[in-house]
Amino acid sequence: MVTVFLIVFGLCLGSFVNACVWRLHEQTGTTSQKKLRELSISKGRSQCPECRHQLAAKDLVPLFSWISLRGRCRYCKNPISWQYPLVELVGATVLVVSYIWWPHGAPGSILEGSIFSIWALVVTGFLTLSVYDIRWYILPDKVILPLTVLGSILIGLIAIQQHSGDILVGSAIGAITIFGLFYTIYQVSGGKWIGGGDVKLAILLGLLAGGFMQALLLLFLASSLATGYAVILSLSGKKKLNRKLHIPFGPFLIAATVIVVLFGTDILDWYTHLVISV
Ligand SMILES: [Zn+2]
Repeated sequence: MVTVFLIVFGLCLGSFVNACVWRLHEQTGTTSQKKLRELSISKGRSQCPECRHQLAAKDLVPLFSWISLRGRCRYCKNPISWQYPLVELVGATVLVVSYIWWPHGAPGSILEGSIFSIWALVVTGFLTLSVYDIRWYILPDKVILPLTVLGSILIGLIAIQQHSGDILVGSAIGAITIFGLFYTIYQVSGGKWIGGGDVKLAILLGLLAGGFMQALLLLFLASSLATGYAVILSLSGKKKLNRKLHIPFGPFLIAATVIVVLFGTDILDWYTHLVISV
């Protein structure tokens, strides 16, 4: 029952992310107050990005609208990007996986329920950042800053739940580790090897990682995922593998963070046992 709810809820979050990303991007190009009101995330109505036709409720059912319309807009028949159903599916998957493997106790009490709800919001923000970075190679401050506040509240609540000040110390160390490293790389390379957005995002990711070893694991996973992706791109012949290959790093950092939050302790335990038994 909970799983079904989370799937539906995750699909809706994904759908919200799709609308958010498009509106955020459209907002940056306009100064007209009327247009900004139309594009308001809380008030504006959803419209087709191609023909700008306002979408009816039946067009906004996540996943099913896209499938029943065979990936085309009902009004102008232009194809709708597969990004839309994909983001919805990813949203649902991450929520269900988070629920099954949530490391901070089943959301039974109000405190635990709040912690999991805030995590769902963080996941929504993460998805928004990832899609934005993939499409436009930018991680917007408008998302990073509130998300960092949200992440700090999440860590604070987990510390209260576990009656442990060590969690706060670990998070601070994680944040300093990743931010320090990224900031140094940014300064040394003059912003060529890593984007300014990644540096700003580093604080949130380090906070969530929650420790020095977890931060290293996060960086290792993110680089491995990004390298794997670059190799696949070059093998498929779409892009040449060279130093000019520009891929957004944000989504890999974010994916690695989600893995570390959910499975970090298990992975590090497994690794420690491996080293000891060798
Ligand atoms: Zn249309």
